[in-house]
Formats: sequence, C-alpha cells, structure tokens
Amino acid sequence: MKRILWFRRDLRLRDNPLLSLGGEVLPIFIFDTNILHRLQKDDKRVNFIFYHVQKLKEELQSIGLELKVFYAKPQAVFEYLQNYDEVVATGDYDSYAKQRDLEISHKLHFRYIQDTYIFKHNEVLKVDGTPYYVFTPYYKKARVILDNKNIQPSPIAKHILVPESYDGITKIDTNIQILPLCLESIGFSEVAMEIQTPQEKLEIFKLNINNYQEQRDYLNLNITSNLSVDLRFGTIGVREILRFLFANASQEIEPFIRQLIFRDFYASLLFHLPYIETKNYKYKFNGIEDKEKYQLFCEAKTGVPIIDAGVRELLQTGNMHNRVRMIVASFFTKDLLLPWQWGELFFAKYLLDFDKASNVLSWQWSAGTGVDPQPYFRVFNPYLQSKKFDKDALYIKKNIPELLHVEAKYLHDENYLLSHTTLNYPKPLVFHKEAAKKAVELFKG
Ligand SMILES: Cc1cc2nc3c(=O)[nH]c(=O)nc-3n(C[C@H](O)[C@H](O)[C@H](O)COP(=O)(O)OP(=O)(O)OC[C@H]3O[C@@H](n4cnc5c(N)ncnc54)[C@H](O)[C@@H]3O)c2cc1C
Repeated sequence: MKRILWFRRDLRLRDNPLLSLGGEVLPIFIFDTNILHRLQKDDKRVNFIFYHVQKLKEELQSIGLELKVFYAKPQAVFEYLQNYDEVVATGDYDSYAKQRDLEISHKLHFRYIQDTYIFKHNEVLKVDGTPYYVFTPYYKKARVILDNKNIQPSPIAKHILVPESYDGITKIDTNIQILPLCLESIGFSEVAMEIQTPQEKLEIFKLNINNYQEQRDYLNLNITSNLSVDLRFGTIGVREILRFLFANASQEIEPFIRQLIFRDFYASLLFHLPYIETKNYKYKFNGIEDKEKYQLFCEAKTGVPIIDAGVRELLQTGNMHNRVRMIVASFFTKDLLLPWQWGELFFAKYLLDFDKASNVLSWQWSAGTGVDPQPYFRVFNPYLQSKKFDKDALYIKKNIPELLHVEAKYLHDENYLLSHTTLNYPKPLVFHKEAAKKAVELFKG
C-alpha cells in the first residue's frame, strides 16, 4: 500500500498521528493556489507556514523521510500523483476544505485521521445522538469524555520513502516546473516576524496559569497562552497541550481547558450546521450595508480609541487580544450596524490564527445571531470596556501614538471625545447609546 501523507493543519513531527501508520509513504505539502491567489503578497500567515514547512522538512529528514512541496491546486496534485493507493490527512471542517477533500476522494481513497481537535465531530453528542447547540452541556459531556480519553503521544511508525524527486517546490499547471524553495517562488515576500516555538510559549504560560481566569481580559498583562496560531497550523497538537496541563494539575487549569473545549464546540457546530458559515442561526436582521462606515472601520478611523487600537493591532501584528475582538465585533455589529459577515471577512484577511469555525461563531456570538441563548440585546459599551480592561490606556496609546499626550481618562470618555478636537484623530463616528438602542430595535424586528 503506497500512501500520500498530506500535511495541512498539522505541521509537525512530534505527536503527529499521520506518522503512526507506517509503510510506503510520500509526505507532501501543497501551497494551494486557490487560497494563495486571494492573499496579499506580504501575508504574515504564508510567512508563518513557509517557515514551518521548512522546519517540517528538516524534521522529516531526521526520520529518513523527505517532504515534497507543491505549488498548485490540490486537485491537480492528485492527478499528478496517480500511482498511490490512498491519501491520509487530518480534519479540516470549513466548506472549502470539505468540498476540496470530497473532490479528491473521487480520485483517490481518502482517509481522515483525528488530530486538529480534541474530539471527533461525532464524539460529543446528546444521549439521543444529536449534536449540542449550547456550550455548557457540551462542555460537561466533553469533560467526562476527556477524563477517559487516551491523549498519549502518537508513536512514529517505520516508513519506507517512495522515491520521487524532491528539489524545491513543484509547480503544477500547464507545464511542470521545479522552483527554488523560497517564498518568492510562490509570489510572496518575507515579512519580519518573531516566531516562538509553542513549547517556549507553554513554558511562559506555566507562570501565568493560576492568573489566567482572573487576568486574561486585561489588555497589557499578556497572560494568555498565545497558542492559537500554533493550534491553527498544528505546530503543536492539542493533546500535547492537554498533557502539559494535566502535568500541571496543581494549578488552576480548568478555565484554560474550558477555552480549548470552546474551540472544539465551535468546530463541531460548523460541522453540523455548515450554513452558519455565512448565514444567521437566528434573527432575520443582518446589518445595514454601509460601505463608507466599513471603510472608516478598516482604516481604524472610527474615533473610538479602543476600536481603532484593536484594528491597528490587527493590521500591524496579525493578532488582536480576545477581549478587544469581543469589543470590536460588538461595536461593528451593534454600533456601526454592519453585517457580521463583513467583519468576519476582515478578520479572516488579517488574523494569523484565523480559523473559520472560531471566527464565524465568535462573530455570530457578538452579533447575537448565533446559537448562544443570549439574544441580540447584549451590547458592549466600548468606553466602559476600555476603562475596565485598559484603565491607563496603555494598550490604546501603544497602538495609537497620536493619543500619547491625551490623559487616559479622556480616552474612555465618549462625551469628551465627541466635544473635543484631538490632533490627528477623528471624532467618534456614532453616539454609542443611540446606536445601541437602534440596534436592539432592528434586531427585535
Ligand atoms: C470576533 C472574534 C473572532 C475570533 N476569531 C478567532 C479565530 O479566527 N481563530 C481563533 O483561534 N480564535 C478566534 N477567536 C477566539 C479568541 O479570540 C482567540 O482564540 C484568542 O484570542 C487566542 O489567543 P490565545 O491563544 O492567547 O488564547 P488563550 O486564552 O490562551 O486560549 C487558549 C486557546 O483556546 C482557544 N480559544 C480561546 N478562546 C476562544 C474562543 N473564544 N473561541 C474559540 N476558541 C478559543 C484558542 O485556540 C486559544 O489558543 C475569536 C474571538 C472573537 C471574539
């Protein structure tokens, strides 16, 4: 049996179940042109992936395997690799991934292996076999299953490498070319970014676990794990994180486990309700399409400091603190009254950790249109939020240096911002109380 091991959201050697089958194999990675063609040339995620593909290549060499890298549409790669018996890959649940895998399964036997999430999509179900749409009961059931789950590392089996030519990147379109193994070959440019190993992040996080629950929302403390990008691309497996947590069980690990289970819950929802990728789960109202407001939002010119600081953080770093994501998404859907789908796509374009399930479900949660039992009238006041979680406005000033000279208390004061002119910084685009009232009326229908 000759197998293709298709690395996708599992860019690592360590504890990778793809490597547990053994036999005659060809490990591959595909730079998917369907996806790459939509991205900007300085996309930070492509830089991150490229770095880890090279690292994976070296790691595989250490066990006698060689990663063959393609630049092509996945369908074309599998037409090219016809002499194999099956392709093995770990799960990917968004609509594009599901359709792509379905098409490939018509060419070649396709075997999924569970790795990306803690649970399989059909592992945490109600007693009647239907999926949960509410988090708390899902979490309770998931927790019981987790306690009895085998989360030991996957062993690496013995492999025989199928001979292929491995130089550089194989570009497949009308004519096949071998390109040098560099970012420029696939049309991207290098971006300076610091890449920490997930194991280093875990060591730092160890010092913060006990404070995670109480302090994770404070914008300047950097208490959270920063592991979302690693979970996204599988540079660490979720089981390794769980083993780390259980090994530190004397600390307050449960709030963090709960967040990991949240990630699984969202993936399971997207799997069972694929239409929620673009459509409301509940309520008809879906925002007002105002391109001018949207443009000002994208340029971080809403005049609300915490919102503009968040957007600037995202544009500059590819990250945004979770609390700020919540404040921004609420402001976007309830104050600016824009369709959540527009905000979701904006985040999708820039977030390093962009994950369809977590992003869509979090946006629907903020808009109040999702599965969450809390309805539309949950509206965050961005000024009260920033006063609470960024009291000294350090986060705001770090991201908007034009506001360095303004006293912190004024940056959380809507009336002050509406009535004063601040050099190089716009006045708030909307009056929060009025906008929020209008949103509640519109959602109520
Ligand atoms: C509007 C909005 C959009 C979001 N989009 C994404 C996204 O595209 N990709 C993404 O990974 N997360 C998304 N999140 C969830 C959350 O903001 C990030 O997972 C978190 O900020 C990552 O930082 P961390 O790794 O330090 O998290 P930690 O607090 O250390 O949490 C540990 C891990 O748990 C998971 N997690 C934590 N919070 C959530 C959550 N609310 N929902 C789902 N999983 C969670 C993540 O995998 C995270 O790495 C979004 C949240 C909001 C409000």
